[in-house]
Amino acid sequence: MSQEVHEPRPQSPIEPVRLGADDAFRFRCHKGIPCFNKCCQNIDIMLAPYDLLRLKKRLGITSRELIDGCTADFTMDGDGMPGLKLATKEGTRECVFLTKDGCGVYEDRPSACRYYALGLLAMRKKDSPTDEDSYFVVKEDHCLGHFEQQTQTVAEYRKSQGLDHYDDMNREWRRVVLKKRSGGPAVGKPSQRSLELFFLASYDLDGFRDFVASQGFGQLFELEPALSQQILSDDEALLQFALRFLKQALFGEITIPVRKDAAERRRERYRAKVEALEREAAARRADEQDDLYDSLDE
Ligand code: SF4
Ligand code: SF4
Repeated sequence: MSQEVHEPRPQSPIEPVRLGADDAFRFRCHKGIPCFNKCCQNIDIMLAPYDLLRLKKRLGITSRELIDGCTADFTMDGDGMPGLKLATKEGTRECVFLTKDGCGVYEDRPSACRYYALGLLAMRKKDSPTDEDSYFVVKEDHCLGHFEQQTQTVAEYRKSQGLDHYDDMNREWRRVVLKKRSGGPAVGKPSQRSLELFFLASYDLDGFRDFVASQGFGQLFELEPALSQQILSDDEALLQFALRFLKQALFGEITIPVRKDAAERRRERYRAKVEALEREAAARRADEQDDLYDSLDE
């Protein structure tokens, strides 16, 4: 009789229990805890658009300065979807914002830092119009917060971390990313231009504002003057608009009305392009026929 051998499996820090908003878990993080700052010394934190908005405001710098100085880029999928992570200090895995007193941007720390030691799982059932959020606890060896006496529900923890507003601002973007990544051939391979627009609208909010204020944008899209004024003066409104724009750029959903004359000009350009291609193909066919006759004459 053969004996089954069970190899020890690598320990995952994720507790295999799904929690709902009203479920309680044990955890407390505070300045006096011996592991204070440990979690910020070995980071791998992906940023969402609202994280960047808050950080650039906090630091009083432009989106471009924040991207260049405090983030590291990576690609989110095989199509080259651009992503950003929090940068680390040179030669370490320590967060660029970590100080000896703790987080240097605490009130504006990114969403992933707020969630820790919870993880979010947003899923949508087939034929359901809304996502269902569930949570799991992440227990890493260095984190002693799990041995503290405090328990709270997920909803209480989310409130204490100010997560509702962060999630409201980032939810639509996460849907766009998920749709793009899970869409496969149905969504199609993105063009270089659409990847650039994705970066601009997702991360470089000041650059996106200039783009919206440009003459070319105004010639193409029809915006209500009140909306135009609002998005040019309010970063949060601009970000919401950027996400509408992304759906149009990536998936062709008409979320922003296109000017009639601009649509007609586009159609004209498209027709001219098709006609030029047809002329080229006809000329090529004629050349091939001439070559064939020449070879028969020889
Ligand atoms: S932003 Fe703050 S909380 Fe987040 S990893 Fe950096 S130092 Fe830690
Ligand atoms: S308790 Fe956990 S989250 Fe808090 S400082 Fe320690 S390692 Fe970081």
